[in-house]
Amino acid sequence: MKPLSIGDISVQSVLEHQGPTLTPDVMFPAHDPEAFASHLDWMVPAHFDVATGKIIAAFQSYVVRTPNHTILIDTCVGEDKERSNPNFHMKKWPWLKNLQALGLTPADIDIVMCTHLHPDHVGWNTRLEDGRWVPTFPNAKYVFAREEYHHWEAESARGAERIGLTFIDSVLPVVEAGQAVLVDNDHEIETGLWLEPTPGHSPGHVIVNVDSKGERAAFTGDLMHHPVQVRHPDWSTCFCWDLDMSGQTRSRYVDGFTDSGTLILPAHFAGTSAGHIIGSGDGAAFAFLED
Ligand SMILES: [Zn+2]
Repeated sequence: MKPLSIGDISVQSVLEHQGPTLTPDVMFPAHDPEAFASHLDWMVPAHFDVATGKIIAAFQSYVVRTPNHTILIDTCVGEDKERSNPNFHMKKWPWLKNLQALGLTPADIDIVMCTHLHPDHVGWNTRLEDGRWVPTFPNAKYVFAREEYHHWEAESARGAERIGLTFIDSVLPVVEAGQAVLVDNDHEIETGLWLEPTPGHSPGHVIVNVDSKGERAAFTGDLMHHPVQVRHPDWSTCFCWDLDMSGQTRSRYVDGFTDSGTLILPAHFAGTSAGHIIGSGDGAAFAFLED
């Protein structure tokens, strides 16, 4: 993604990896194969891989520079993490190098904001140092939505291993280091940058809104995973906590964003990632920014 600006705020992507992930029947349990096939003309090659039959996803963080803060939104899968998902298990990625390519070191990050606490959004919160998980960003405050935090704290306590490990290796060490701040779902990070609750994918999922000099943007996390969901907001993913609620929330936001001029920055859209939701003859569509 090219560097973008929204009023006084600049945005750059730090890519961890991008590629084919899951077939649509696994990813979207409620999808209609015929309707999916009708979108192949615009999905191939950036958003659907014909060779594997899998949808393509990006895993990236956004660096947001305001006049006051350098903020990191979502921290991908991370390295050396024990995960049940083989695509995430004990991986090595050039993410830190990609951060450095933007002229930043981990010490430069003032605020880390996770839209939710799934494994692919908290990974670089911590890194392994002498066998211990320590915060990757030594000077940052890590902002977690309180509702989301308490949900996964309880899941971890009852031994839900998949997420439990994530909470233990990527969230708790930040709390123990005194760097976590638990906030309301509509917390204002600074003037013109605020959270908004978007429950469904996870209980306390939030998006991050930007309003700078009259220009609007929204970092939508996993409100949508793939641009086909803008056409079909009711196609929730197999990773959603409450598929019905996720679909209802997505539908409401797709409607609200349509032709609003708001720049949408989803976590997992491949290609140029960012774009606008526009109205078309057969419903809403995602118009990607040009390369
Ligand atoms: Zn995700």
